[in-house]
Amino acid sequence: MKILIDNGHGANTQGKRSPDGRLIEALYTREIAIRVEHELCKRGYETLRIVREEVDVPLSERCRRVNDICSEFGKSNVLLVSIHCNAAGNGAQWMQARGWEAWTSIGQTKADRLADCLYASADRFLPGMKIRKDLADGDPDKESGLYILKHTECPAVLTENLFQDNMEDVAFLLSEEGKQAITSLHVEGIIKFIEL
Ligand SMILES: [Zn+2]
Repeated sequence: MKILIDNGHGANTQGKRSPDGRLIEALYTREIAIRVEHELCKRGYETLRIVREEVDVPLSERCRRVNDICSEFGKSNVLLVSIHCNAAGNGAQWMQARGWEAWTSIGQTKADRLADCLYASADRFLPGMKIRKDLADGDPDKESGLYILKHTECPAVLTENLFQDNMEDVAFLLSEEGKQAITSLHVEGIIKFIEL
């Protein structure tokens, strides 16, 4: 199994940061992606970060990279997790919304199983924190036509790792404990899916 890790946005993307500027989504998710990659590698899994550049890479190019790897290895031998932080406002002020959630494309696919594993992992590694679920269709993930989910051929999940405009969430995200929790959440969730 080839594990593809995407980290959202680029250092040149406008907005996408905490109101106090301490958390920049592109840099934070990149740091988490590197940690996830190192940990999976250490445990013998094959991983690839699809965006190694610091500047933003358009979604069409991200999807092209993923689909090239799907063509090469077969889409059932590839999975994609795209790592983001959420926001409730426009970044100018602190907001109230908190918590973790994950998205898949619309309809039941293998991505829903991957999302189930990541949700179970979130429950484990983010004890006492809000886990945002949409149980209307019988599973916890939220579904949408997000470009990176819709235009990639392999199972793909986008994680929104707490809110970059919530003061408590940002304090946790920036702590070493928080970084380890977000990393482990991804590592254990992905491994559980592969072992299924
Ligand atoms: Zn994002």
